[in-house]
Amino acid sequence: MFRLKYTEIPGNHYKINREFIGNPINEFAEIYERFVGFYAIKTLIADDELHKRPLKLKKDRTCRFCGVLFSKEEKFKSKAHLFPQLIGNKYLLSDFECDKCNSLFSKFENDLANFLGATRAFSISNAKKGGLKFKSPDKTFIVQKDYEAADDIAKLRIESHEEENNHFTLDAENKKVTFHTTRASYNPHNVYGAFLKMGLSVLPDELVDDYKIAFAILQSTKKNEESDNPLFKLNVYLHPGPSFPSPMLILFEKKKETEPVPMHIVCIMFQNYTYQLVLPLCKKDKWMYDGKKIVTVPNMPPFIDKHFAEKFGIPIGHRLNFNFDELKRNEKHEVTFSFENFTDTRLNE
Ligand SMILES: [Zn+2]
Repeated sequence: MFRLKYTEIPGNHYKINREFIGNPINEFAEIYERFVGFYAIKTLIADDELHKRPLKLKKDRTCRFCGVLFSKEEKFKSKAHLFPQLIGNKYLLSDFECDKCNSLFSKFENDLANFLGATRAFSISNAKKGGLKFKSPDKTFIVQKDYEAADDIAKLRIESHEEENNHFTLDAENKKVTFHTTRASYNPHNVYGAFLKMGLSVLPDELVDDYKIAFAILQSTKKNEESDNPLFKLNVYLHPGPSFPSPMLILFEKKKETEPVPMHIVCIMFQNYTYQLVLPLCKKDKWMYDGKKIVTVPNMPPFIDKHFAEKFGIPIGHRLNFNFDELKRNEKHEVTFSFENFTDTRLNE
């Protein structure tokens, strides 16, 4: 969807530089130029065989999130994932997450799953292989792989019970269908936690100490009192067309330490979404949080190739604020699909 250029670092064959080959969508060209003016790729981790790496022996492990070492009491028994399986991670495991932190993050991931709602069940991989069923909280709207279709055929079965629920709107002229559903209850604060955990997981070891505050935020049960703080807001792009083949996280680092922008921004790509997460309050940025300097968070562009967007449509951006520690109940959720053609089977009877 976008191109990356890999170049060897002279004298070090084990390390490679990665840079984007800019082919941004016209509408985002300015945002793209501004962003790559501030930031360069520090690390890129994709869920594929290439990025699998050997894990440390359990006896040598330390939890990055709470600092606990392997011991009789903490044996690192759980199979911890670098980022959640629910966003499609198959291969990437973590060797720096203890069992206690793992169970805390599982709680966050339940909230993330509820926030993502029906979109996971609608994904093409689910239509092919299945394994996931979405049921609206009132159980009247169900999405799952069609159990009558063969495994390798992508076919979904969508059930809408009780007509008065108006689960979908068909716009035949524009070839669009919108499903109207409801998310199961979730706590936004925990959804933020799930994203922050992913972001802190891609940090190279040598940067972990710079983020003591962010790690403390992740563990804290205290309400966040800065609901307007842009450091804790996320941008998200939704792109039409096929989804990303597998999840990918890119850690961007600012090119010049003296720029009043956050040190690291994480790009989290999965399904048809690209999330922008700021890693909050890096130790090296302390100088710019003196109450006088104006700190900006540059917007990340969607890293979608121009030709891809011309074929399928321009990504749409939203700003999300998960800075609320309260249960969201019965939140409406709409998912729109474009289609090529449709058959009205009622007329065939
Ligand atoms: Zn831990």
